[in-house]
Amino acid sequence: MRVRIVPSTRDGRHQLLTSYLINKTLAIDAGALSIGLTQEEQRALRAIIITHTHLDHTATLPMLLTDLFDELRRPIALYATQSDFDALVKYIFNPRIWITIETLRNEHTALVEHRPMRAGEPFDVEGLTILPVQVTHTVLTHGLLVEDEKSAVLFTSDTGATEKIWEVANACAKLKAVFIDLSFPNALTELARVSEHHSPETLLDEMKKLRSDIAVYGVLLKAPYRDRIIAEVNTLNDPRLTIAEVGRDYDF
Ligand SMILES: [Zn+2]
Repeated sequence: MRVRIVPSTRDGRHQLLTSYLINKTLAIDAGALSIGLTQEEQRALRAIIITHTHLDHTATLPMLLTDLFDELRRPIALYATQSDFDALVKYIFNPRIWITIETLRNEHTALVEHRPMRAGEPFDVEGLTILPVQVTHTVLTHGLLVEDEKSAVLFTSDTGATEKIWEVANACAKLKAVFIDLSFPNALTELARVSEHHSPETLLDEMKKLRSDIAVYGVLLKAPYRDRIIAEVNTLNDPRLTIAEVGRDYDF
């Protein structure tokens, strides 16, 4: 399985928005798809999974769909909870902000097709099996266990301290890596707690819940604090924990 954090800033190193590209055809979250993927990569996308509706995870979904207007011959599959899809239709795909979901169609096809997902119910997409697991954030949010025949990778999405996803992780024998929220530096641990994110300090506690053979990649580092968070993680000197590089292809 090939995983890339899609770049979302001018220098390509900091992460402002969230999207992962899995292999060539599946995206997790739509924060950065129109920004950090080439047009060819955008045309290859067949499915997008939305972990929650916060803007940094959904911002480029409207542009992506309209940019693909001429290209699509079948819809992009949009996996999201019913409540998240309803929120996207109400708050984003309305005429004041963009265009309605009903008008997102060309002469051949609707541009997008909603496929409801629910916590605890696995589904197959683009040769992968996905298990959504509810995590602990300020709104309904799902982490995703993504498996192929060889390996599995866990994406927590935005979360603070949580439980269920670690039960799932520890039970998955072929799990290779976890990409976990590490938004804030230690000085902002209280803010991390109330906004349901992590700092290095809270992440260390969280990692005690995970089997010791799994690589942990810190992601979603808030851009203004990225260098501070990296320095703090280096001080921890924990071989399991590294900061994921934006734009790099990871193979598992
Ligand atoms: Zn969020």
